[in-house]
Amino acid sequence: MKIAILGGTFDPIHNGHIRAARTVARAFAVDEVHFVPAFTPPHKSRTGLTSPFHRFAMVALAIMEFDGFRVSTIEVDRLESRYTVDTLALMHERHPGAAFLLITGADLYAEIEEWKSHDRLFDLASVAVVHRPGFSMRDDVRSVEVVRDRPEQPLSTTPRVYYLPGVDADVSSTALRQRLRNGTDVEEWIPPAVQTYITSNRLYS
Ligand code: ATP
Ligand code: MG
Repeated sequence: MKIAILGGTFDPIHNGHIRAARTVARAFAVDEVHFVPAFTPPHKSRTGLTSPFHRFAMVALAIMEFDGFRVSTIEVDRLESRYTVDTLALMHERHPGAAFLLITGADLYAEIEEWKSHDRLFDLASVAVVHRPGFSMRDDVRSVEVVRDRPEQPLSTTPRVYYLPGVDADVSSTALRQRLRNGTDVEEWIPPAVQTYITSNRLYS
């Protein structure tokens, strides 16, 4: 069993997240992708973060059409922040024998040294870093294996860092919140069901 994990604030979820998840899922033939909305971001506090329950609901709406995509309550359940390394340890307990692959954008991976217990994290999971416009991939912390469009890459039995340069989504939740506030079109980046949810709950207005 191969499980990929994509954590984030998802405020709101967008097609950049979906593209990253689909690309990694295809490249490594993973069985499941678990989207994990954070209760609050562990190492940055942003004021005005949307309620975790709304962020969870938007993820659920965005992924329902994709086989093997799930949304996890593992972080929002606790009503306080959890570090990625602790979430991974808990997932190992819940899914004994599974291999884990943590998905991150190159922006987040650039701060790898600030992640809590990042050495231990690499005992618990491989990391699949996807390209993010404006950020280059760091290869000075761990050695990196570049994965191009070759499907069904075998996942190494010892945790590794992979880089997937093929994802090219120039979008962020920050930019989308701004567009929603201005009433600018977001159709290209936010799935229709999520747009409807945003409108009916008057989020980001
Ligand atoms: P914000 O602007 O609020 O930080 P975001 O768009 O960065 O939002 P997050 O919820 O912070 O979204 O990101 C969750 C994960 O998805 C992170 O690992 C991030 O790097 C990755 N990610 C988000 N957007 C993209 C994108 N456009 N391309 C590649 N990876 C992305
Ligand atoms: Mg972000």
